[in-house]
Amino acid sequence: MKKKIKFQLLLLALIGIFTTMFLVLGICYDLFRKQVIEDLKTYAHLLEDTNALSDLMERRYDSKKDKVRITVVDESGDVLYESDADADKMGNHGDRPEIIQTFATGEGYAVRKSSTMGKNTFYYAIRIEEGNVIRVAKDADSIWSIFAGALPAIGGVTAFIILLCTVVAHVLTKALIAPIEKVANNADRLEELEIYEELAPFVATINEQHENILKNAGMRQEFTANVSHELKTPLTSISGYSELIESGMASDKDVVRFAREIHRNSDRLLILINDVIRLSELDVVDMEEHFEWLNLSEIAETCVDMLQINAENHGVALTFRGETCMVRSEKQMLEELVYNLCDNAIRYNNKGGLVAVLVKKAEDKTVLIVEDTGIGIPKAHQERIFERFYRVDKSRSKSTGGTGLGLAIVKHIVAKNEAKIELESEEGKGTKISVFFS
Ligand code: ATP
Ligand code: MG
Repeated sequence: MKKKIKFQLLLLALIGIFTTMFLVLGICYDLFRKQVIEDLKTYAHLLEDTNALSDLMERRYDSKKDKVRITVVDESGDVLYESDADADKMGNHGDRPEIIQTFATGEGYAVRKSSTMGKNTFYYAIRIEEGNVIRVAKDADSIWSIFAGALPAIGGVTAFIILLCTVVAHVLTKALIAPIEKVANNADRLEELEIYEELAPFVATINEQHENILKNAGMRQEFTANVSHELKTPLTSISGYSELIESGMASDKDVVRFAREIHRNSDRLLILINDVIRLSELDVVDMEEHFEWLNLSEIAETCVDMLQINAENHGVALTFRGETCMVRSEKQMLEELVYNLCDNAIRYNNKGGLVAVLVKKAEDKTVLIVEDTGIGIPKAHQERIFERFYRVDKSRSKSTGGTGLGLAIVKHIVAKNEAKIELESEEGKGTKISVFFS
């Protein structure tokens, strides 16, 4: 970046120098040209007004010391007099632009390349009384020879400006870049830095990302600790019971009981591991490419049918009502969503309680509602139940086989579907969870 800024500044300076130079040169040359013509004009009029012309033609006046060439041409273009050469040897001049012009308007001028290198010849002609034309001519530097003459000075100035620009560019880029370097070097304490206003959004984004990374790292660490802890309890039980059986100290009746415990705890482990795997899958895999149009009502009904036995076991009545509602999603995700919500509504319910599942259209949205008349969730916990491993009543949840991951999975699924989830619950009365699909 430094190099780029330096280069651009230098380029800008060079462009500036050259355009100014050519402009000034052009203007000066134009003035110079006008001046030369003006001089020639005065000279020609002087010749006309005084007797100088006749003196000249009789060779009584030497125009060479003025470096002015004088030509007199008659009406047919033949040369009557030429100061620099023998008039008799000169061809007809009637075709010269300045002469043609003079025949037409009374005066004329022209500039042509001189036979001398780097010079132009300026011509000015007027018609005099007898009908003849006096033409005066003078050699003057061409624009290029003036330019060539000025070249050393131009080179010197250019070199000086380049040097100046390099220094200025260096100082400027250093000052410009210092705050950015400061940001780069102090990424961990950006709030304390004084920075450009223009850099503020950039720093804010970095800050936010920084915080997110830290938060994510913290959450991952906490999750790992939680998983290990959750794995430990069933594994300790399994290890304990199997050790008792191994030692031969358990009676036949005990063996059956211990085996049942081992079975129960391994099931729990399996569920836990499944949930953890599912969560990380939802975290990583981009589901959207598998999305298709699905009838949410149909999926919910199948799920409710499957959970009927479970509900009966808990003494809970489970009902379903729905209309065809198409949503763009993935089948397994929708099944898990309905399953987890219904499973909770049944599990955290009372004997004789109700669970109603409803799928309907609400304005331009499809909504899935799972409502129960269960134990409800105290206000203080409502914010947190979607966190991983968060359980309101640890003992109740665990005794019913809960891992505290169900709603975390729900939350992920809702996010993947760009849906919205709403929770209404009152302790002792029941819970209503609504998911809105757009
Ligand atoms: P899992 O679903 O993983 O088997 P879990 O049911 O304990 O375990 P979540 O589904 O995440 O975990 O629920 C978290 C907690 O929220 C539950 O432990 C329970 O305390 C509370 N909860 C969830 N749904 C309800 C509900 N319908 N009524 C009352 N409490 C609920
Ligand atoms: Mg659950």
